[in-house]
Amino acid sequence: MRIVVPVKYVPDINADRRFSDCRVVRDPAEGSLNELDENALEAALRIIEALGDDEREASEIVALTVAPADGDLALRKAFQMGVDRGVRVTDDALAGSDYFGTTAAIAAAVRRLESEGPVDLVITGMAALDGLGSVVPALLAAELGRPALTLAKKVAIESGALTITRETDDATEELSAPLPAVLSVADTANTPRFPNFKLIMAARTKQIEAWSLADLGLDAASVGTAGARTETTSAAPRPPRPEVELVQDKGEGGTALAEFLIRNELV
Ligand SMILES: Cc1cc2nc3c(=O)[nH]c(=O)nc-3n(C[C@H](O)[C@H](O)[C@H](O)COP(=O)(O)OP(=O)(O)OC[C@H]3O[C@@H](n4cnc5c(N)ncnc54)[C@H](O)[C@@H]3O)c2cc1C
Repeated sequence: MRIVVPVKYVPDINADRRFSDCRVVRDPAEGSLNELDENALEAALRIIEALGDDEREASEIVALTVAPADGDLALRKAFQMGVDRGVRVTDDALAGSDYFGTTAAIAAAVRRLESEGPVDLVITGMAALDGLGSVVPALLAAELGRPALTLAKKVAIESGALTITRETDDATEELSAPLPAVLSVADTANTPRFPNFKLIMAARTKQIEAWSLADLGLDAASVGTAGARTETTSAAPRPPRPEVELVQDKGEGGTALAEFLIRNELV
């Protein structure tokens, strides 16, 4: 069984966002592995761990990121969790990539991995915490011509078929598709493991493969700003929250509250 887990290197979501030319300013080395991708890595590890000895021996989990060189930090975290291989797609022409450009790069890297041997599953997180598009998994399935089973809460593989359980607002659905497929897992699917000391140490020196667009046979015009189908026309940080108005209740708190709500057109 070979599984590819696309993982995103995201800026620290608790840090202040700054924008330049409608792009998020990314401070080198201040980002991390998208937390929701840890659920995807955990799902992949559990699938492999459930296999028999021989199949497990022959299996491989590849963490794949489309990112500048800082993306290695995300791959190192994936190594710490236990993946076998880390691939980073980096190219100046990727700057300004939208959903389609990013997906094209991920898909081309999956195809390159497929040229070495079959890839049975691509497992993504449910969303990237910076972009929050939640659209890459479906686009990737379309690009690769594979079924998409998204937002899985439970995952099972039996006789070459993938079955998932997913929760919607008013129903619990069970879906099934033959492998190879694209799967995205919800944050409720599992609890990602803590890396153990041995893997943390080993992750430091694991080799990361860096591929360019030329390595993937991908035309630079199909990604980055050149290939983007969407354009961010404005981006600005949210205005700071207004000062909190504290009212000392000396028996007229209710009136003060009503006045506040009326004054701010909240009723
Ligand atoms: C090199 C590069 C340059 C970019 N430049 C810009 C820019 O100039 N302006 C701008 O607005 N946006 C830019 N982006 C952001 C880009 O548009 C989004 O990252 C992309 O469209 C994915 O959307 P999302 O973050 O909403 O992912 P979602 O659809 O929410 O992600 C779902 C899942 O897809 C996978 N995934 C998503 N992104 C990646 C990735 N990069 N690598 C591996 N797996 C991934 C993860 O498993 C993730 O959990 C850039 C991205 C890259 C990689």
